[in-house]
Amino acid sequence: MASPAWTEAHPAVVSPRLRRARGSFGRRRGCPVTVRAVSSQRESKNDNAAREGSGDRGPERKRVVIVGGGMAGLGCLDALKGHAHVDVTLLESTRVLGGRVRSKTALGALAWDTGASYFTVKEESGPFAKALRAAVAAGVVQTWSRDTEDGELTGAMGTASTRRRSSDGRVVVDDASFRSFEAQKKRLYVGVPGAAAFPAFVAERVVGASFPEASWVGDDQKPGVPEVLCGAHVDRVKQLGDGAGNAWPVHPHGVSRRRWGFMARCKEGGHMWYKPLECDAIVFATNAHAVASLLGQVELGNPSDDPGDPSPLVRAKRRVAAERLERLRSAAARTRGAACWSLTVAFDAPLRLKYDALKLRAPFDGDIVFIANESSKPRRGAAASAGWGYRWAEVGRAPATGAGECWVAHASPAWSAEHCELPPGEAAAKLCAAFLSLVERDGAGDPEPVHCKATRWRFAFPTPDEDEPGRENGREEKKTTKAAKERAKPARINSAPYVFDPSLMLGACGDWASGPGAGDAYESGAALGAAVAKRFAASRAADEAA
Ligand SMILES: Cc1cc2nc3c(=O)[nH]c(=O)nc-3n(C[C@H](O)[C@H](O)[C@H](O)COP(=O)(O)OP(=O)(O)OC[C@H]3O[C@@H](n4cnc5c(N)ncnc54)[C@H](O)[C@@H]3O)c2cc1C
Repeated sequence: MASPAWTEAHPAVVSPRLRRARGSFGRRRGCPVTVRAVSSQRESKNDNAAREGSGDRGPERKRVVIVGGGMAGLGCLDALKGHAHVDVTLLESTRVLGGRVRSKTALGALAWDTGASYFTVKEESGPFAKALRAAVAAGVVQTWSRDTEDGELTGAMGTASTRRRSSDGRVVVDDASFRSFEAQKKRLYVGVPGAAAFPAFVAERVVGASFPEASWVGDDQKPGVPEVLCGAHVDRVKQLGDGAGNAWPVHPHGVSRRRWGFMARCKEGGHMWYKPLECDAIVFATNAHAVASLLGQVELGNPSDDPGDPSPLVRAKRRVAAERLERLRSAAARTRGAACWSLTVAFDAPLRLKYDALKLRAPFDGDIVFIANESSKPRRGAAASAGWGYRWAEVGRAPATGAGECWVAHASPAWSAEHCELPPGEAAAKLCAAFLSLVERDGAGDPEPVHCKATRWRFAFPTPDEDEPGRENGREEKKTTKAAKERAKPARINSAPYVFDPSLMLGACGDWASGPGAGDAYESGAALGAAVAKRFAASRAADEAA
């Protein structure tokens, strides 16, 4: 019997076969989606399992599902591609890959990177550096460096502190404290024409993934070719079997040889429906909060669902599984996310600042921690020209193509936390004022903002859990104490840059488990992908030997 809770929670489940049989989306338009015939799908899955068991389809292939198409998910996909006997499907809930590596355009061609502004390489021989090199060779990523203009030095990039101006006590950039990234031996890479071009390149060219329609995902996968599907939100993960051949018939999939089942809420062509999928391993490549919440919802095989009373041994096994699951969940729950408001602003004329990229050093004395001149990034100036013409026409000024400048400013963690629930328009206005004040461009005759918006990243950067002992009411204790330093480290089990339980075949990765950057997230995913592949290879070798 299908679990009532499971089917009731997902009334809009439609079989892909049913959808195909119904024909085009047009025929479905206007009519409510029909509840899938559970029994027919159970039969087909049972047929599948039986065929796999009988050897009709050759040796059984393992299926890994990656939840999340940010840099960690892509790193994992990269590590698992081409592995014999392993099929991988990556599901991303939004419409685009990249997660916090995201770009935005407006008014034709104004462009900003609203999340990660640039990429850096920490480990030259690592998988991230390899992917980045491939993107550089293809022209999808270029280095971002300082520039000179008419002999005047502009576009310095680096770090600086703030100071209080003696005349009015206002917080401004302390030019004397500036230290260039060059001096810090830091090379910056940016996506062309936007940061989001890089994750798309990784999926298409580095991994060579296929992009099936939602109806087909997981159905007819070409062996060894990873699949990617955007607009597919994963929830309600349920254990189908214990990995030792014991299947639990308590779900609409029927009896399955796979370990895990879940619902993907797919959005395609303006329609939304649930698709049940099964797999042998799941990698959660989302922010720590989402990982903890997804793992917290995992339903393990329930003894009361079984047709007979399970033996004490089975009960004990399930208790151990529950403990292992909790260990994974609490590793992610140890980390929280700090919010970040990201301002995207365009001015009607260049600000003519000394800096193109400036990271304000902690302790932050102002409201802004990072600013970037987006128009100074490779190939943005040309793209912006078209947009400026459009913009000028819109605001009724004479077209002066390429005259303006696009900037990004990130608010400090404290400011973002304090103003987390502010309406975006208000946050944008406040941040724009803070930015202009910081760079001392808020006087009469200074360039005017012609586009000013703000994006809130609710889980922008991983931070240790503030509810942990030693952190009362979220108050920061001194970072110098050994315990505080220990807690500030990324959440890990056994010092790996990910968490993984090989007996459950569940793992999780991301910047929260490795380090605070896109490259760290990618390396985390790649390391977990390698661990999953290794585990499958070992169990296959053991099976063959037996
Ligand atoms: C404002 C800002 C500026 C930054 N600047 C830089 C920088 O300059 N350089 C740098 O290296 N790093 C920077 N970072 C950090 C960097 O962007 C992140 O460390 C990195 O992108 C994290 O990648 P991730 O894959 O771990 O997580 P994410 O990017 O958060 O990816 C997780 C993905 O999982 C998806 N997802 C979540 N739940 C589900 C679900 N249930 N089903 C399916 N999909 C799901 C999400 O939609 C998302 O796409 C910045 C971040 C922010 C927010």
